[in-house]
Amino acid sequence: MTMARVEVDRDRCEGHGRCEMSAPEIYRLDDDGELEILLSEVGPDQRPGAEAGVLACPVAALRLSP
Ligand code: SF4
Repeated sequence: MTMARVEVDRDRCEGHGRCEMSAPEIYRLDDDGELEILLSEVGPDQRPGAEAGVLACPVAALRLSP
């Protein structure tokens, strides 16, 4: 099973929370507005949610690798 890593560029992230709205099972903003990646490795089942978060981010701070 191919796993992909969810990566955040913290210098870019502005805490908009669009990723969290798209996939709260993967992305969460903590009380300080800091993004927490709840699932850093995603398999085929979680990948669509992870990708939705990547696409939702207005500052392109997220990416999946590979
Ligand atoms: S949508 Fe982008 S800028 Fe907003 S919290 Fe998520 S990663 Fe950060």
